[in-house]
Amino acid sequence: MCAVFLRDTSFDFLKKSAFVLITSGGSPVNTLWHLAQAVLKTRTSVIGGIQLRGAVTVPTKFGNFLGRPDHIDLEDAKLFGSAIAAKVINGGALPARYKIDPKSGGRFYDIIGPILTHLKKAITPLPQSDSEKCDLCDYCVYQCPTDRITIENRNIKFHDTCMVCYRCWHVCPQYAISIKFFPRSGFIERTLYSPKMEKCFGKMEKGEYKNLGPNLYKNVLGRKIKLTYDRHNPTAKFEKNE
Ligand code: SF4
Ligand code: SF4
Repeated sequence: MCAVFLRDTSFDFLKKSAFVLITSGGSPVNTLWHLAQAVLKTRTSVIGGIQLRGAVTVPTKFGNFLGRPDHIDLEDAKLFGSAIAAKVINGGALPARYKIDPKSGGRFYDIIGPILTHLKKAITPLPQSDSEKCDLCDYCVYQCPTDRITIENRNIKFHDTCMVCYRCWHVCPQYAISIKFFPRSGFIERTLYSPKMEKCFGKMEKGEYKNLGPNLYKNVLGRKIKLTYDRHNPTAKFEKNE
């Protein structure tokens, strides 16, 4: 997402130094490397980076890395911050663990990544709202994790950069939001984001697989499970639909 922002705005950091940081609740693939490449194109040198974990709270993937960041993640982030501060104040090199390996990207994943991204874009439609059912309660706007919903002229507008997590669809109390899947696209979506795919292609660390939650696509999209959210406290409660 940040890499796209940098590419679209031709941002110029005036030859400053930067570090890059990503949070991920699933398959990080080469995101840290890609972000570093995008920053390098802005005439900025990248002095290092870190990838941290966080819980996934979108309905269809709820459960991944639940409880993260935990105290160990936060301690890690603190150490990273201290290392950056020490480098800025005293100079010298960052500890090797924060170096971004130039060889970590630019190979298999650079070919497969854009193909999967296009496939996902093609098969996961933006939500739509039904003005007859919608009472403009604003709840979807509040719940959207990326603030991609606005109310304009008494109509719900979903912006193009929506990450199609379908939380708005899941939480709308009036069932006024719909998703128009192509035939079989729900199946492809479930397959693409299955734990097996994440294990095979996600470039996760060995011990991290146990942090993958169940694949909820079928149950959530079939409205067999309902999760209630509090945006400021990212946990969810499962309510079985009768
Ligand atoms: S949550 Fe549903 S009813 Fe409320 S504004 Fe959004 S679409 Fe309309
Ligand atoms: S599907 Fe899009 S608009 Fe709806 S909550 Fe997710 S990011 Fe926001």
